[in-house]
Amino acid sequence: MMGPTLERAMVRATSLSQALALLQETAIPSQPLCGGTDLMVQAMTTQADGRRWVDVGSVDELRGISLDANGLRIGAATTCAELRVHPLVATHAPLLAQCAGQVGARAIQERATPGGNLANASPAADLAPALIAHGAQVELVSASATRRLPVEDFFISYRHTALSTDELILALHLPLSGDALCWHRKVGTRRAQAITKVALAASGLWVKGEAHCRIGMASVAPVPLRCRKTEDWLRRHALEPGWMDAAADILREEISPIDDLRSTADYRRTVAGNLLMAFLRRFQAAR
Ligand SMILES: Cc1cc2nc3c(=O)[nH]c(=O)nc-3n(C[C@H](O)[C@H](O)[C@H](O)COP(=O)(O)OP(=O)(O)OC[C@H]3O[C@@H](n4cnc5c(N)ncnc54)[C@H](O)[C@@H]3O)c2cc1C
Repeated sequence: MMGPTLERAMVRATSLSQALALLQETAIPSQPLCGGTDLMVQAMTTQADGRRWVDVGSVDELRGISLDANGLRIGAATTCAELRVHPLVATHAPLLAQCAGQVGARAIQERATPGGNLANASPAADLAPALIAHGAQVELVSASATRRLPVEDFFISYRHTALSTDELILALHLPLSGDALCWHRKVGTRRAQAITKVALAASGLWVKGEAHCRIGMASVAPVPLRCRKTEDWLRRHALEPGWMDAAADILREEISPIDDLRSTADYRRTVAGNLLMAFLRRFQAAR
């Protein structure tokens, strides 16, 4: 009996218009490939579904990191290795630099991209919490239109995103983080090559005594999650007696973790609250 095979039809796109035209063709369904670090693994464990891979990794418009008055633009095919060391990312999106340095090991970081990380839509996607905490928008492009949406709205349900079959993730747009306190922690079985059991990335700013926080989490829900209820609660109740414990309880209610091979729902709930409190202790000290 034949097992899964890595053999696929593949075209390397040399321009954005060519990539989009290929994705639009209905006679031969296509799927974008960037670093291939998710797709190659999936190809080894599943039968080919007849889709042609369109390699978009060297399309100019999907590459590069730049800064203008609106903030940071990061091409979807930028590698995690680039995100990890780029000075603009370190300065304006420190959570992203930190998370990129925790995607697999160095060899994976040389190939893995934010476009692939988001489109793959794993609940454990490591770049998603950082992008949510930084208030990033994802820019999608097809042959006929472009649109932007907040990263947290890109994820619709388990492994399902807002991306249409004829669209590419072109870039990510991040507002400047300013004076926000940024904090991130990934909890895994060990320090390298571990899939996240629970991760939390947060940014926080005190505005006239109010706590303005953005909290992104991975591996605690069917999708990477923005914890809006907890953020709202913090804005109204931060600094009240017992507020950190109460916020941790709100967060534990807001998430919906599961038992799986890597961890249990109980453990994830406990750790999620503890991570939030670790962030809040630093946030209070920065007041
Ligand atoms: C050993 C190993 C360890 C790993 N460790 C981690 C980890 O610690 N944390 C983590 O988050 N992930 C990890 N991963 C998963 C993977 O490396 C990341 O999700 C990576 O960011 C995927 O990017 P890619 O460019 O390789 O995606 P690809 O494999 O090229 O594509 C993944 C998906 O995204 C789609 N896609 C890619 N680019 C675009 C685009 N521009 N527009 C639209 N769709 C697109 C593809 O069609 C596919 O569905 C690991 C993988 C391996 C093999």
